[in-house]
Amino acid sequence: MESVEKKQSLVERDRQNVWHHISPYSEKNPPMVIKEGKGSWITDEQGNRYLDGMSGLWCVNVGYGREELAQAAYEQIKKIAYIPMTQSHEPAIKLAEKLNEMLDDDYMIFYSNSGSDANEVAFKIARQYHQQNGDPNRYKVISRYRAYHGSSMGALSATGQALRKYKYEPLTSGFLHVSPPDNYRKPEGISIEEYNIQRAEEIEQTIIWEQKETVAAVIMEPVITGGGILIPHPVYVEKVQEICNKHGVLLIIDEVICGFGRTGKAFGHKHFNIKPDIITMAKGLTSAYLPLSVTAVRKDIYESFKSGEENSHFRHVNTFGGNPAACALALKNIEIMEEEGLFDRSAQLGDRLLQELDELRTHPYVGDVRGVGLMVGIELVEDKISKEPASKERIGTIIAACKDNGLIVGKNGDTVAGYNNILTLSPPLSSTDDDIDFMIAILKKVFKENM
Ligand code: PMP
Repeated sequence: MESVEKKQSLVERDRQNVWHHISPYSEKNPPMVIKEGKGSWITDEQGNRYLDGMSGLWCVNVGYGREELAQAAYEQIKKIAYIPMTQSHEPAIKLAEKLNEMLDDDYMIFYSNSGSDANEVAFKIARQYHQQNGDPNRYKVISRYRAYHGSSMGALSATGQALRKYKYEPLTSGFLHVSPPDNYRKPEGISIEEYNIQRAEEIEQTIIWEQKETVAAVIMEPVITGGGILIPHPVYVEKVQEICNKHGVLLIIDEVICGFGRTGKAFGHKHFNIKPDIITMAKGLTSAYLPLSVTAVRKDIYESFKSGEENSHFRHVNTFGGNPAACALALKNIEIMEEEGLFDRSAQLGDRLLQELDELRTHPYVGDVRGVGLMVGIELVEDKISKEPASKERIGTIIAACKDNGLIVGKNGDTVAGYNNILTLSPPLSSTDDDIDFMIAILKKVFKENM
């Protein structure tokens, strides 16, 4: 091994051994091999520095290189490294209490490892809940096209992006999709509010047409993130809650990205007047320093699992869920966010980014600039009147130019629908003013040079 290490670069050894997520190896754009990170910046093997404008995959909320987080995990591992969640431990208990304090409500906290896991748990709880509460036929789950809810079979079934799914079908049955509100592309002649009410009513129509006694839950993110930063009018979310209540359907809110300050509040759903039945969280929960996710379930749903010996079992276990070091680290991560006021900071920095980037609208290929908190989407089009999505090449040029200038940006949307045309920014909430200035300067420069 020693001699191989001497002869070949890490980049080459990576190419020969590591199967990367999503894209195949590309000679032109090989994966970066990252050596270290500090704050919002990462450094690759060659010593090139980049501002990580996506916080990894929208997840490193407190930025890189936080020694306190390493310390929290280290101390916990020294004490006790592992306890299955059939038992319990102090960090799991304290974290559950802390999350309830942040949610301002009473939920039971179920631990898993990833966002996909957390959503799978939510679907299973919803189905079992109905089954043992006099509604045994309620098994269907409604979600929105363009939304992403994870990569495991159930979570992928809920996902509304066909390209991610079609090679793995048949997926789990009972997952239905409706159109999300896309305010940039709303039809002419109706107000945003009316349009959003119509989109919510599509959910009600689906529930009715499917026969409401068969529908278990609706799952949605407060803001569709991976599908291209689709921010609903509050009337939409509040109407969906009303519809769910009316028809006995549970409302699952996926906070995997929107949670922990990304939208400028502790949770994305706090922008709206709703009370979700189930809330799923991951990513920002530990700022991705260790894997951990949560399915928070309204207390009265949990209580109904106590009716009789058989009903009291929720037969779901995962070995690593609620890992003590991950829970201890999550607690420290939340403490840092609170001490540094990172939720408010996200709101302030996000406003500044939006204000500054608004001038990009004058660019011939920028159709829309939108965002909430530190989550911004720049929608690229070929033509501002027809709103035809920008070509892959045009978007690729902008992303590559940003990278050449030391800024990592994301690309999101839905390829099948032709809307994979939204540049996304989601930097660490701990970004400095200089970091934000850097992002603004590079984006303005790159767009100017690519008119
Ligand atoms: N839900 C949402 C909204 C997500 O963005 C993601 C991941 N990007 C997931 C669920 C799945 O999370 P994970 O990759 O941790 O399984």
